[in-house]
Amino acid sequence: MILLTKNFIQRFLSKFLPVCALALIYSFTCFAQKPIKDLKPTVILVSLDGFRYDYLEKFQPGILNELAKKGVRAKWLIPSFPTKTFPNHYTIATGLYPENHGIIENNIFDFGAVFSLDKRAELQNPRWWLGEPIWVTTEKQGQRAAAYFFPGTEAAIQTIRPSFFREYNGRVPNNLRVDSILSRLDLPFEERPTFFTLYFSDPDDAGHEFSPDTEETRYAVLNVDDVVKRLVDGLKKRKVFGKVNLIIVSDHGMAAVNRNNSILVDDIFDTGKAEKILWTGEIVQIFPKQGEEATIIKALQSKIRHASCWRKSEIPARFHYQASGRIAPIICSADEGWILTNRKRFDEWKERDELDGLRGAHGYDNNLESMRAIFIGHGAAFKKGFISEPFENIHIYNLMCKILGLTPAKNDGDFEKIKTLLKN
Ligand code: AMP
Ligand code: ZN
Ligand code: ZN
Repeated sequence: MILLTKNFIQRFLSKFLPVCALALIYSFTCFAQKPIKDLKPTVILVSLDGFRYDYLEKFQPGILNELAKKGVRAKWLIPSFPTKTFPNHYTIATGLYPENHGIIENNIFDFGAVFSLDKRAELQNPRWWLGEPIWVTTEKQGQRAAAYFFPGTEAAIQTIRPSFFREYNGRVPNNLRVDSILSRLDLPFEERPTFFTLYFSDPDDAGHEFSPDTEETRYAVLNVDDVVKRLVDGLKKRKVFGKVNLIIVSDHGMAAVNRNNSILVDDIFDTGKAEKILWTGEIVQIFPKQGEEATIIKALQSKIRHASCWRKSEIPARFHYQASGRIAPIICSADEGWILTNRKRFDEWKERDELDGLRGAHGYDNNLESMRAIFIGHGAAFKKGFISEPFENIHIYNLMCKILGLTPAKNDGDFEKIKTLLKN
């Protein structure tokens, strides 16, 4: 009996041991992540659209708070006016105020054409995108950039696009975006990009649909927290967490709105006197017909409530919103929680029983608490456990150039204002 068992074990070992050993080697080579030993200074810029500054406290996303605690955090990031997605992303990328980079709103009227987020051909047309975004600076100076979504990365600005980019599609799973960026880090030294972008819309989507202070928005925040954790885990596996500089930002915050707080602009002035009107709920751009500007502004300024309307030359200087030829002769900006709209749209909402209920909006005055954004920095270049005073998002471009060893293009930021974030 003992002999039988011994024989059996011997036979088993001689037959299966080589197979087991092979399987073990195979799984090591296939699944063990190769550490990256030759990393150049690297930045991964992660945008969490519509992540209001207080979500960190309020919803307690674990990894984001950990990065903020161990790295650098601004008390909040001051967005640029108007507090919309495209103007602010492109300000972060270029260090220019919207009046200087040309993306003055999500909708723009110029060249006799309209730029808007649903017009891919226009989004990809470089004529709209002025200034020099960080990925162009990176590529021009001999390094490589990889973008998994970021406004502007689809257009050949100054004829240059990131070495890797993808046309925007909001349905691409967030985890795929992260894994794809991590796989670019695995490229050999000469091919490996040093600047990366990632973009996630979840906090903005939930904030709009359900309003900011809700369970739904909390879940969206925790969702993107998981995605950031996947990125951090990927960096740890490659032994470069702590070396790679993670910059996590948002473009603006989110305010609660109720459609009953609508301002019916066409009840206030005769819209037939305008050549063109570009509407968003928070900003209306009015291009008057020849000779009608005075009549329109007079009607607006005397009658409008819960919004401010200015001639272009009267827009308060603190908004830095005058210099561009694209800014309309008249603009109206709604007060927090109010919606600029027209009678037709309001009646449609009413008809569909869509007036009641809280929703979310942004685009308002960039000094409002509800519009505040986030800035978290973590990695080799950043101090540890440092909380900075709030700063404007025009400064991030210079900061990224500094970390990457790039000479910045002309911009509105000032490195001196945020150099305290970095190690000496
Ligand atoms: P906003 O209207 O300012 O709330 O814009 C947010 C929306 O912008 C997101 O929900 C996306 O659908 C859209 N978006 C973000 N990035 C891009 C992009 N690169 N191209 C086209 N649309 C985008
Ligand atoms: Zn946004
Ligand atoms: Zn939004």
